[in-house]
Formats: sequence, C-alpha cells, structure tokens
Amino acid sequence: MARIRTKFIVITGGVLSSLGKGLTAAALGALLKAKGIKVSMQKLDPYLNLDPGTMNPHQHGEVYVTDDGAETDLDLGHYERFLGTPMTRRSSYTAGRIYSQVLAKERRGGYLGGTVQVIPHVTDEVKEAILSMTEDDLDVVLVEVGGTVGDIESLPFLEAVRQLRSELGRGRCLFIHLSFLPYLETSGEFKSKPTQHSVKELRSIGIQPDIIVCRSPMPISIESRAKIALFCDVSQDAVFTAVDVKNIYELPIKLFKEGLEKKVARLLSLGKTEPDISPWQNLVDRQARLTKKVSVNIVGKYGELMDSYKSLKEALGHGGLAHEAEVEFNYINAEEVDAENAGKILKSAQGILVPGGFGSRGIEGMILAVSYARRHKVPFLGICLGLQCAVIEFARNQAGLPHANSEEFRPNCRDNVIFRMTGWYDPNTGLRAQRDPSDDLGGSMRVGSYPCKLAPGTKASQAYGETDLIHERHRHRFEFNPRFLKTLTRAGLVISGQGPDDPLENPSLPRPKLVEIIELADHPWFLGCQFHPEFKSSPMKPHPLFKSFIGAALQTAKRTK
Ligand code: GLN
Repeated sequence: MARIRTKFIVITGGVLSSLGKGLTAAALGALLKAKGIKVSMQKLDPYLNLDPGTMNPHQHGEVYVTDDGAETDLDLGHYERFLGTPMTRRSSYTAGRIYSQVLAKERRGGYLGGTVQVIPHVTDEVKEAILSMTEDDLDVVLVEVGGTVGDIESLPFLEAVRQLRSELGRGRCLFIHLSFLPYLETSGEFKSKPTQHSVKELRSIGIQPDIIVCRSPMPISIESRAKIALFCDVSQDAVFTAVDVKNIYELPIKLFKEGLEKKVARLLSLGKTEPDISPWQNLVDRQARLTKKVSVNIVGKYGELMDSYKSLKEALGHGGLAHEAEVEFNYINAEEVDAENAGKILKSAQGILVPGGFGSRGIEGMILAVSYARRHKVPFLGICLGLQCAVIEFARNQAGLPHANSEEFRPNCRDNVIFRMTGWYDPNTGLRAQRDPSDDLGGSMRVGSYPCKLAPGTKASQAYGETDLIHERHRHRFEFNPRFLKTLTRAGLVISGQGPDDPLENPSLPRPKLVEIIELADHPWFLGCQFHPEFKSSPMKPHPLFKSFIGAALQTAKRTK
C-alpha cells in the first residue's frame, strides 16, 4: 500500500443501537478540528439499500443531502454541524453501494474470471472506499461503522477495517468502541457485562479496541472503569464515559473534560496542541441563557418520528439562537387539518412551517395551513414541498386557478402549477442529470447544490445579507411550472430567487431559469424555497432564512402580546 499520511479512527458500536455513535464521533471530530487538525468523517452503513434516498423517513429518519448530491444517512448532518465542513458522496457508503460496485466490476470482467468473494473482493472495495477519503489530504478521518457489533450484516465492514489496521499499523489506525453501561438502581451499581460481551464479540473477529467509550446515565465509578479495563484488555485511562446530555452541543466539552481527545492524540501522535473549545463553551452558555420564547407549527406528515425532521429542528433552533430565543415546535399532522379546524389548530404559534415531503397524503391540510398563514399574516416558511403548496394555494385563491395542483398529486390536471421537468430539462445544460424515473426512483431527482440568483429588494435578498448569488441543496422531482409564471406574478406572487440564466457548459441548449424562492410582498414574512436550507445550518452559523423567519415570528409574538 502506498504511503498514506492520513490517519484513521474507526468507531464501532456495541450492545444496542441508538447509543449516539454518530454524535460521539462528530463531537470527537469537532475536538480534533479545534486542535487545528484537518479532519473529515465517513459513515459505513451495513444495509443493502444503495443509499438511504428511497428509505421511508418514518423508519430511517431524514435523508440528508450533500452538496455533491448524495442522499445519505442523517448522521452526516451531525458531522457537518459539528465540524462545520461539508461532507461529500465519499462520506457515505452502504453495503448495497459496495456490493453493487463489486458486481459491476465482475460484469466488466474486472476479476478476470476469478471467484468473487466477500474476502478479499468485498473487503477490498470497502478499504478502497475508506481510503478514497485521503484524496482530500486530510490529517484524520473518523470512520463510523453503522449497526451493532454482532450483526451479520456489518461483518464485511469490520473485517475490512481489521485488515486496514494491520496494513496501516497501530499508530495510524485506531479503534474506538462505544458501548452501553447500564446502571441498576436496585443494587446501585453499573453493569459491565454487556460491554464485556460486545468487546468479546469484536475480538472474536480480530479487532481489539484501543479505547472504550461507555454511554451511561452518569459518570462511571473507578471500580467499573477498572473492571472494564481488565476484562476488555485496555488500559484504565482508555475507558471513558459519554454521559447523557440534554444538549448535544455539550458533548465536545464533556469528551474534552474526560480527556478523550488527549488519549486519541497520544495514540495517533497528533501533537499536544490543546483544542480551543471556547466556541463550544460560548455556544452552550448562550443556549443556556435564552431569554425569549417563540413557537412554530410544523405542518407535515412525518411528525411521529422526530428524526424525520432532524436537520429542520436543528436549523430552527439555530435560527432561534441568533435571536436569543428558544424555539418550541408543535408537530401538526397535516392529515388532521381541515377547513373547519385549521384556525383553531394553527393559531397557537407565531410561525408556520410546511416542510419537505413526498406523496399526496396530507397535502390539502398543508395547503390550508399556507392559506391560514397568508390570510392571517403569520410568518410562513415553506420548504420544497412547502413552496409547492404555497404556489398551489396562491394559484387557487389569488390567481383564479381553482383547480391548480401539482403533477405529483394529480398527474393530468390542466393547471399543474407544479410539474415534472422530465423531457425538457436536459442534463447537458450543466445541471445535474435526470434519468428516466419510470423504474428507478433513486435517480430521478434534482439532488445536490444548485446556484440561485436573488432579486434585490426582496425579503430573501435581505435575509441573505444582500448577496446576489447563493448555493443551496435540493432534493425533489417537481418544479414551479414556468407556464404559469406570468399569471402568478401578475396576481402578486414575487419570485425572489431563480436559477442563473448564464449557460454554463452548452450555450446552445435552452436552460430554464428555475424558480427557487417565492414570497409575498404584502405580508410580514411569507417565503417558500424549492431547496432545503436546513441542511446548511449549523449552531455556529445559523442559516439566514431560519434566522430571518424566527426573527419575523418573534415580531409577531411581540405584536400579539
Ligand atoms: N415531493 C416534492 C417533489 O418531489 C417535494 C420534495 C421535497 O419536499 N423534498 O418535488
């Protein structure tokens, strides 16, 4: 193997899922970054889906989107928010993607007729995926292996990292195992047995962890530490606790105080520079001192599972933080909103948000929520599907198109103000490709970062600090139908953001100016965006649209007091 400068930290999880492996990894990444080290992260997911793009948010949580158009696991959102650096397609691999690469290679004759096997072919592909991260000339890459040790599915990944470690050597590849340490109230003791078993499982496949991080409700006792060290064959100063925190942004501070970064730095020879954790401390202090309160009604369809709107919830919080306000969210199931009860349900909050979503369920409820926000001058933010509902509502009630709809919900309606671009949206125009969506749901969307030009003097432009050009992340199949541009703008709809019209690569092809942001002039704050601003918000840098939206909601709160 060619000499690689990058060092790797592999994080595995044991005992049970949902221990916060992604968060712990991200917090450690943040600490290393605060040390002045160039860090990035990667997630290896053991399931067979090619990517989480087609997975149901109810089951899997939100699909996070990167600039380069990868549809990924929501842990990548944590990585970006903690590291403040964008992840890429390389940062997320599923077993499905690995296997499909292996099979494609096999079809191309890449294995010269040999028998294709998990070891070495699948494991080689995994190692290649991990090593592809070195292209960015990083000091450290944190690799999170999804799933729980002991699962059949994650075996090829674990075998690959085992091989990687023996190829790179101990000083260049470190194993951290995150485990669970239950506390038994009745006997008043921590129980280390599950951790012992999960480490035993790891060792049976040849991986000896260097560091064990125990997730536990409180700091563990010296005796438990000693016991884990003894049974799991690590030194006592390599056993750490990740205590439950109320605010996830306390994690870097907690882990720093535990000395995790110091231990990692020593084992990987990363230098003795103390990480500057003051920005994290400031953040946590500011979060603890929020003086105002504002509430937002989120009218969507994935409300039952909080993880479906992970980034959105985060971004609203960041927006609030910018105004020293705590944001309270009420999830409202759009299916339960009807013309009769809309007012009663919606009047409780100072802002209304219709988030992204797919399929027709709950659409009429969302449109009623838009209508309520427009008529009662409640600050409104519509994201992706939310913009589409806002355009439909405006067309129906303000522009004399009572049957207005989206091709997604009524394929053959004449007044589809939201439509699908397949046919005239040419991939050669420089925008990302659209494939025939008929049998491949995974490849038919506009996904990833696209430029948007802001119209001066609009709320959008104001929110973004009067910049002309922004870049935001998309994930949708349908668009504002330009056939209705005149009708709708004449009726008062303001187009405040559009795709730039300068032909990038092929000037001879028509390049539609896609509508990216709409707003209303005679309203305190009513804005819909075709993109997902929540993916680019972080606590250190709240997104301008969320900051502005929450600002407007706070104004409403003041007015109605
Ligand atoms: N279902 C809509 C579309 O495909 C909106 C998608 C979304 O909100 N992300 O265009």
